[in-house]
Amino acid sequence: MNEVIIVGGGLAGTEAAYQLAKRGYSVILYEQRPKKMTEAHKTDMLGELVCSNSLKSMEITNAHGLLKYELLQYDSLIIGQAYQNRIAGGKALVVDRKKFSRLITEIIEKEKNITLKREIVGQIDKNKSTIVATGPLSGEFLENNFADSVKGNNLYFYDAISPTILTESIDFTRAFWGSRYIEDDNAYLNIPLSKEEYNKLVEMIKNAEKANVHEFDKELFFEGCLPVEEIARRGDNTLRFGLMKPVGIKSPEGFEKPYAVIQLRRENREGTFLNMVGFQTQMTYTEQKRVIRSIAALRNAEIIRYGSMHRNAYVKAKNVLSYNLSLKNYPNVFFAGQITGAEGYVESTLTGLIAAIQMDRYIKGKPPIEFSQNTPSGALLNYLFFNVTDNIQPMNINFGLFPPLEGKIGKKERREQMVKRAKWWIEKQKAEITENI
Ligand SMILES: Cc1cc2nc3c(=O)[nH]c(=O)nc-3n(C[C@H](O)[C@H](O)[C@H](O)COP(=O)(O)OP(=O)(O)OC[C@H]3O[C@@H](n4cnc5c(N)ncnc54)[C@H](O)[C@@H]3O)c2cc1C
Repeated sequence: MNEVIIVGGGLAGTEAAYQLAKRGYSVILYEQRPKKMTEAHKTDMLGELVCSNSLKSMEITNAHGLLKYELLQYDSLIIGQAYQNRIAGGKALVVDRKKFSRLITEIIEKEKNITLKREIVGQIDKNKSTIVATGPLSGEFLENNFADSVKGNNLYFYDAISPTILTESIDFTRAFWGSRYIEDDNAYLNIPLSKEEYNKLVEMIKNAEKANVHEFDKELFFEGCLPVEEIARRGDNTLRFGLMKPVGIKSPEGFEKPYAVIQLRRENREGTFLNMVGFQTQMTYTEQKRVIRSIAALRNAEIIRYGSMHRNAYVKAKNVLSYNLSLKNYPNVFFAGQITGAEGYVESTLTGLIAAIQMDRYIKGKPPIEFSQNTPSGALLNYLFFNVTDNIQPMNINFGLFPPLEGKIGKKERREQMVKRAKWWIEKQKAEITENI
C-alpha cells in the first residue's frame, strides 16, 4: 500500500486525507493541535471553521452554490458533512460548527486507511509523497521548508485585497481606457471624478465602518501598503496626490479634465473583472458596497471580491506550483488549501480534493486532470495559474472567472446558461475523477 503524508488537519488536509484513503492509500495525517494552536483555531477538532459558520450560498445560480454542487458530485467529505449539519440560514449553507467538526473528526479517526498523528511537523521529507495543507497562518513554516521553491517574492505573508468589479456591470459612458504617461495603452480603466465627487468620496471613505480586526492583523500596515481609509484620514488631498492623482492621463473627447482619477486594472486574460488599484481596505462589506456604488460609473457595480487585509500565507501558484498543485522543484510534494492562493472555506476544500486526485494520478503515472474553465474548479485553477497580474491576491469563486458567453443576454439568463454549461462539464469530469474509487 502506498503511503502518503498530509500536514494539517484543516479543511483542505482533511478532505485530501479522506479522498486518498478512499483510493486505497495509507494516509498519515499530522495535526499540531492541541499541542500547538494557531491564532485562529479554538478547538482540537479537524476541519474547524475558524470564523463564520456560513459556507455561503447554496443556490445553484450563484457561483458559491455551483462550487458546492460540483464538490458533492466528487463526494467531498467536508461539503457532505456541511449539508448533514446544516442549520437555518436562508439561502446560505450555515452549519452547526461543533457537530460539523466533531463528525468530521470521528469519520477520519475511524477510517482504517488513515493514521491521525497529533504532532507538530518541523521539517518535511521532500522525497516522500506529501500534501502540505498548513493553512493561512503558516508563513514561517513554508519559508523554513520551501525557501528554495518560493525565492524571489513568491511567498506572501498577508493579503491586501482591493475590491474587484465585474467589468460588464460598469457604466462605460463614465469611464475610459488609458495608462498614465503612455500613449495608446489600455492597461487601465479610468474613472474621472470632479472636485465635488472626489470630496464626497473621501468623506464617505473616512466615515465608513471598519470590520472587526483580529489582534494578529493589527500590525500589518506599513507605508507601502495602507488601507485606503487610513490614507484618506491623513488629509483630504492625500488620495488625490497619490493613487488617485489626475496627472499623465489624456481625457478623451467628451470628458472634462479630472480632479482625481480612480483606476481599475484587468485581473484575468479575458478582462471580465477589474481590480480597483490601491483600494485595499478594512471597511465592512456593506460599507464597501455603499462607498463603491456612490461613484457614478460604479452605481450598478457587481462586486465579485471585496477588499480586505489579513495575515494570510500563500504562494504565487503560477511560479511555484505545477498545474496539478505539486511544487515545480519537488513533484512529490503538493500544496492544498488557502496556501495555494484560493480564498475561503469551500475553495480551500476544493484544492484539498484536487491535490489528492492529482497526487493519485501522479503516483500511478497518469497525466493530471485538466479541469474545464467552465466548471468552478477549472475556473479557479485558471485564475491561479493563468492570471495576468504580478501581484496575485487570494481569490474566491465567482462567475467573473468563467469564460464569458457570446452575445448580449440578460444577467439571469446568462447565469442559467453558465450553470447548464458547467453541469455538462462537471458530469464529464466526474467520470474521470471517480474512475479509481
Ligand atoms: C482568522 C481567519 C478567519 C477566516 N474566516 C473565514 C470565513 O469566515 N469564511 C471563509 O470562507 N474563510 C475564512 N478564512 C479563510 C480560509 O478559508 C480558512 O482559513 C480555512 O480554514 C483555510 O483552510 P486550510 O485547510 O487551508 O487551513 P486551516 O483550516 O487553517 O488548516 C490548517 C491546519 O494545519 C495545521 N498545521 C499548521 N502547521 C502545522 C504543522 N507544522 N504541523 C502540523 N499541523 C500543522 C493547523 O493547526 C490547522 O489545523 C479565514 C482565515 C483566517 C486566518
